[in-house]
Formats: sequence, structure tokens, C-alpha cells
Amino acid sequence: MAQAASSVAREVHRHYIGGEWTAGMDAIANVNPSDLHEVVGHYATATAEQVQAAITAAAQAFESWQFSPIEQRFDALDAIGSEILARREELGRLLSREEGKTLAEGIGEVARAGRVFKFFAGESLRISGELLASTRRGVSVEITREPVGVIGLITPWNFPMAIPAWKIAPALCYGNTVVFKPAELVPASAWALSEIIARAGLPPGVFNLVMGPGRLVGELLVNSPKVRAISFTGSVPIGAAIAAKAAARGAKVQLEMGGKNPLVVLDDADLEVAVNVAVQGAYFSTGQRCTASSRLIVTEGIHDRFIAALEARLATLKIGHALAAGTEIGPVVSEPQLRQDLDYIAIGQREGARLRFGGQPLRLEHEGYYLQPALFTDTQPAMRINQEEIFGPVATVIRARDYEQALAIANDVPFGLSSGVVTRSLRYAADFRRRSQAGMVMVNVPTAGVDYHVPFGGRKGSSYGPREQGRYAIEFYSNCKTAYIAP
Ligand code: NDP
Repeated sequence: MAQAASSVAREVHRHYIGGEWTAGMDAIANVNPSDLHEVVGHYATATAEQVQAAITAAAQAFESWQFSPIEQRFDALDAIGSEILARREELGRLLSREEGKTLAEGIGEVARAGRVFKFFAGESLRISGELLASTRRGVSVEITREPVGVIGLITPWNFPMAIPAWKIAPALCYGNTVVFKPAELVPASAWALSEIIARAGLPPGVFNLVMGPGRLVGELLVNSPKVRAISFTGSVPIGAAIAAKAAARGAKVQLEMGGKNPLVVLDDADLEVAVNVAVQGAYFSTGQRCTASSRLIVTEGIHDRFIAALEARLATLKIGHALAAGTEIGPVVSEPQLRQDLDYIAIGQREGARLRFGGQPLRLEHEGYYLQPALFTDTQPAMRINQEEIFGPVATVIRARDYEQALAIANDVPFGLSSGVVTRSLRYAADFRRRSQAGMVMVNVPTAGVDYHVPFGGRKGSSYGPREQGRYAIEFYSNCKTAYIAP
């Protein structure tokens, strides 16, 4: 399979445009962050002409795909989901090699991607409308959903298989065609996913893959008048620029961006639950999740006990090669990301926070971007380490007088993606669910780690546009039509 689509000399993995595997002008080497001497593969970068060709192919394919029978969509999405699930171990390994999350996390992410395709296979059979009586005698009103057109999908490096899946599957399910641009750091998972999609029986041009840098490939998608909607996940500055350009030409846009997610630990919390929830939420997947608990807001009565127990748990965490047995935390994804993490650790120290645990780069058996997970205590809410997204295995503790102050601190950031509370009080749990300014609220479970069949998204600077995932995805991936019918 790989040979069929790769150029023989250096096995450069190609773009998929209009149903053909197409060589690029250039290629990048995809390096394993667990072992910098291992190249995962070489991946083509697209020229401007190739991006335009992909957009044109998608636009032409839309002419008939928009009216495709729902069983055709079901069969394709179902087959894609089945193959992903059947190959979860192999694909999870590939994902962990290029991104650095542990093998268990990689396999889990791949399985999730498979389930997403299965979910939207089912949804394609359930696209419904409404029929209402009109205010006018003898007239009825029909409300239906129609596909949007060509959709440009721009994805980040931290979930190289799941995020593409939760954009591609609903786009195809509701009758759109796709041009997919993955993050340059993680083309292997994207390519493997595309290779599966390419064999699922979709007509040429319905799905296209173009790899390459965001400033070229991404920009062309965002600016093309033929691309009727852009779904983007990534950083705030890039998202904001994309939204402005898309809005200026009247295209639909959906953004999922950063977080500075609070986990509130109240006096009455079960200490073991609190520590588990904090460690999983803050540090697993190397803290590189938009839903990571980066601020631990802890009330007076449990503060010292919580920190002592958390520190003891951090000391046992096994940091290592993503594929090694027993590894709990893999490497940071890249050199620039490691630099950013270390910069923020230095900033925190300069701001007067106490670096209670970790924060040092680690030299292990394999040369990689390893970082000892870091914990800051004695921090103030206004510090940069409590306001800006770090996106690494770094968490802070903020001491709060009581529940009300903890809630106020939790809400006092420009982001609002996910939030959590650990408590045994029904009253506080209910109040926190109601007053937390986040799109997703967790009670006694980590802020990161969500289901695939329910909406995902945030508020404030974290998200813009309709929700992703679950049945709510139809809002973005379809347009509404209201028809008035008289006999
Ligand atoms: P970036 O914003 O740098 O990149 C995201 C995507 O946008 C990449 O595919 C990138 O391409 C592309 N891109 C870059 N420049 C442009 C441009 N000018 N026009 C169009 N596309 C462009 O984010 P990262 O990949 O570095 O991911 C980390 C960030 O993403 C973090 O801030 C994190 O919080 C956020 N994130 C949010 C999630 C959420 O759901 N809320 C989920 C995951 C991450 P290329 O890689 O080629 O530069």
C-alpha cells in the first residue's frame, strides 16, 4: 500500500489530490521526539499549484457528492472506522513515534478516531429535517440541512489522528468535500489516515490531502473563494487571523484554540481522587492538550496535604521513550516547544513562584526532548504562568481562601475551554457546573479526556463558532434551508 503511493527513491509520502497520489516539489523529514536519530518518514510539501488543484478537485467533486446517497456515505465512513480500529496497535505506534505520547495514549487516540468515523457513519443515516405548519392557510414549511461545499481542514500536532478524524468524518457525512492540511510536525498519522480514506470507495476529489507549511498551504485554503468553510484547531494568534480572513470573504469558520484550564480542589475532596485527577489532567500526554489542567486552585484546608501528595506522586512518574514499557510521560513534541516550556519555567521563577518539583530537561538513553514535569507553588493568579498557555508538562498551584475565591480565580483568565472541581459536596459541584465560564465542566474527573459523541468546545478566547463533535457538528458542516410549499 505504502509503496503504491510513495516515490521509490526515498519513499517520499505523497499528497492525495483528485483521487491521485501526487509527488510534491520538496519533502520534510519527520523526526521521532523520543529518539532524534530516528526518522519516521519523509513527507512531501505542496506547491501553491497543488493546493489550488486540490481545491479545484474538491469543488468539482462537490457537484455530485452533495447529492450522494446516504448509504454510500455510510459505507465509506464505516469502512474507514473499521480499518482504523482493526489497525489501532500499528497506527498507535506510528502516532507515538512522531508525536511522542505514550503507546497506550497513541493506541487510545487511534481507537477514538475509528469510533468517530463509526459515529458519523451512523449519523449519515439520520440526517433529518422538520415539517411545520405555516402561518398561511394551506402552506407548509420544510426545514432541511444541506452541505456547505468545499471545507478546508487545518489541524494541530497534538492529536494527529483524532482531530483530523473529528473534522473529516462529519464533513463527509453531511455531503461536503474536503481539503485536509495537517500540521507539518505530524504528517505520518495524517498520511496513514488519508491512505485508508483513499481506499474507502469515495469518488475522486471528495477527499484531498495536501501537506506543507501553514503559511503557504493553510493560507491558500483560507483565502480561496472556492473553500466555503474553514475548521481550524491550533493556537490563538493563527486562529484569530484565519477568522478575520474567512469572515472578510463570507466563509464559515470554526476555531478551537488554547486553554488555561483550572482544576479546583476543595477542602472536602477525596485526596487520592484529587491527586489522580490533577496528575492525569496536568501531565499526561506531556501536558500537550488544550484541555490540560494547567492551574490547580486549592483551598486552604487541603492545600498543604494536596501538594505533599502530588509531589510524592510526581516523583514516581516514569518519563521515557514513548514506546518503552512502563513510560507514563513521553517527550515534548519538538525543540521549539521544549524551549517554550523552559522559557515559561524561567519566567515563573522570575515572577517569584516557587518551583517545587521538576522543570529540568532530562538526558535519557535515547536523545530526545525529555522534560521533568514541573510544579510551581506559591503562585499568584495574575502571573504570566497563570494567564498564558504553556502547552507542556507544567502546572501551577494557586492557594484560595474558600470556594468563592477559588471560583473567581478559575474564571479570571482569557480562556474558557475546560474546567474541573474535585469535591464531595453536591452543592459546590452543582454551583461550579453552573458558574464556571468554560465550555466543558468536569466533576471529580480530569479536565482532559472527553467522549467523542458529545459536543466539544469552549468560550472566551478558546473557541469560536459552532461546536465540534457529536450531533452538534451538523451546525458547522451543513447549511439550513427553509422551504414554503403550497399545493
Ligand atoms: P498552530 O496554530 O501553530 O498551528 C495549527 C495549524 O495551523 C497547523 O496545521 C499549522 O500549520 C497551521 N497554520 C500555521 N500558520 C498558518 C497560517 N498562517 N494560515 C493557516 N494555517 C496556518 O498550533 P500548533 O500546531 O502549534 O498547536 C498547538 C496549539 O494549538 C496550542 O496553542 C494549543 O492550545 C492549540 N490546540 C487547541 C486545541 C483545541 O481543540 N482547543 C487542540 C489542540 C491544540 P504548520 O504546522 O504547517 O505550521
